[in-house]
Amino acid sequence: MTLTGAAKVAGVMGRPVAHSLSPRLHSYWLETLGIDGAYVPFAVRPLDLEAALGALRPLGMAGVNLTVPHKERALPFMDDLDEAARAVGAANTVIVERGGGLTGRNTDVHGFLCHLKASIPDWRPGAGPAVILGAGGAARAAVYALRTAGVPEIRIVNRTPERGAALLLEMDLPSSAVPPRETRNAIADAALLVNATSLGMTGAPPLDLDVTVLPGACVVYDLVYAPLETVLLASARRRGHACVDGLGMLIHQAVPAFEAFFGVRPPVTAAVRKHLTGEA
Ligand code: NAP
Repeated sequence: MTLTGAAKVAGVMGRPVAHSLSPRLHSYWLETLGIDGAYVPFAVRPLDLEAALGALRPLGMAGVNLTVPHKERALPFMDDLDEAARAVGAANTVIVERGGGLTGRNTDVHGFLCHLKASIPDWRPGAGPAVILGAGGAARAAVYALRTAGVPEIRIVNRTPERGAALLLEMDLPSSAVPPRETRNAIADAALLVNATSLGMTGAPPLDLDVTVLPGACVVYDLVYAPLETVLLASARRRGHACVDGLGMLIHQAVPAFEAFFGVRPPVTAAVRKHLTGEA
């Protein structure tokens, strides 16, 4: 679509940023919805983050998304934070408000829960314990989302157990941090298993997990989206588990950001997924 002088401009800041699917996703919605706007990737070095965020308002931009390594580092440069960003300690979306102030939001929380509910319509938070593998940024968003949804018990299994324990303490959860050697016990009665580590991602070591220990009704959610069908999801699917992939979370977290940038709530359709996976 040809831009006019009144086009709204947003983008994503990361380092590296070339791997980000956000420009492809937002540009697809801009095109299909016929919106006069652009979404641009910005490779911003950590030491330039403050200046880059400070330039949003003078440039008249609508806002930006943030990816690795900026989600946590950006907080001190925000004038305001939404509840999720404050609780998780990370913002993935920055909105330039009418008065010029910057608001940091965390839409990963929304994306995580929305995609889980959309994929498994009969998912019940009260069904039993949730086990989260990992204690980094994605795990923090997942834990906060599950806590607010009312999951009664959340167990965190992390390579560095102290990081898991710190997360639970910060979120004031009556749950437990489990050392990796006790993973089998921790998942044996799980109603939901979430991989929020980078294990299983293209280029990362594989996730070594015996899915035969999981109860048959356990929902398996892998936040890794490259590859789309991870070894964890493939082996869980073979055993008949309901599975949720990471790409849907990525799409759903972009919905409120796009709406804030461009003023239209974009639809999550099979066509968007196909566009991102290269099937369309
Ligand atoms: P992060 O903050 O760097 O956390 C990485 C996590 O993986 C930590 O818990 C880390 O454990 C663990 N880990 C890394 N290497 C490991 C290894 N060799 N053995 C055991 N554990 C290991 O990263 P993040 O931002 O949370 O991202 C985690 C994953 O979620 C990535 O695959 C990312 O692509 C995905 N993600 C997906 C979405 C989505 O929309 N689908 C959104 C955000 C992130 P330690 O604490 O011990 O280091």
